[in-house]
Order: sequence, then structure tokens, then C-alpha cells
Amino acid sequence: MNILPQTILKKVISTFNAEISSGEKDVLAMTLKILEELEGEKERFLIEDLVTRSMKNMMAVIGMEDILASLQEGKIRELVFLKDLKSQGFKCANCNFLTVQASKSCPYCSGKFEQVHYMVDYAAQKAVEQGALIEVITKSDELGRAGGIGAFLRF
Ligand SMILES: [Zn+2]
Repeated sequence: MNILPQTILKKVISTFNAEISSGEKDVLAMTLKILEELEGEKERFLIEDLVTRSMKNMMAVIGMEDILASLQEGKIRELVFLKDLKSQGFKCANCNFLTVQASKSCPYCSGKFEQVHYMVDYAAQKAVEQGALIEVITKSDELGRAGGIGAFLRF
């Protein structure tokens, strides 16, 4: 460990015992496995926190409808969603207002709505524009049950 440069040492998050005879490939495989486990643990904790807080109304929401409402108010601090989330909705062609409910015209600018199939893309784009962080989750049944999307709020 002492032979590693300081910059790399700072990034060491876990150690394991590699047999002297372990091939490079084995070491790489072990490293990747540890990284995956750590990432999975981090994600599980994040989602648990998200769902618990949203249920207690503590600066978090789950589900597309609440997400869109929070986006409209510029409240989202961190947007969390499943990688493969597909969700249909509507987008105002004029002002980009997003909604899951069909209506004739935009309540903000009376513009026309167009149907979109990947609401999450537009929601994520809007969140980024507002300076929010984006966390894409590869797989989570718990988040899936919560509608596949949630967010931590600024206020
Ligand atoms: Zn509009």
C-alpha cells in the first residue's frame, strides 16, 4: 500500500488479500466485485432513505406526478430514477411544462401539448437546468414499487 502514490491512496476504499499467485485478471475481477458491492450498498441506502422520507413528508417525493410538481417549483435537489424507466406524459411545446395528465392547453402559457414517451428524459433535463444532481439506479425493486422515480428536495 505504501508504494501507491498519495492521489491513488486517497481513492482506496477497500482492501482485499490477493494471493501472490493471483493473476492480473483475478485481481481485476475481485476489484470490480468490491466496487459493485459498494455501489449497490450505496444505492440501497439512498433509496431506503428516499422512500422513508417521502412517506414522512420530509423533503422528499416519489412518483412522476409529484416529481413534476416539484420541478415546476424548482424544488428538486437530487433526482433519482431507474435506468429503464419508461413513462408517458405530455410536454408543452411552447414553455416545456411537463405533466402526466392530458389537457387541451398549457395552464401556464396556453401552448399546445405534445405526447412524450420518455418523460424521465425531460424531467432529468429540467432538473439539471435547475442545478439538481441526477442519480440513475440500475435496478431496485423498492424504487420500482415507488413508481421508479423520486427526488430529494431543496425545501
Ligand atoms: Zn406552456
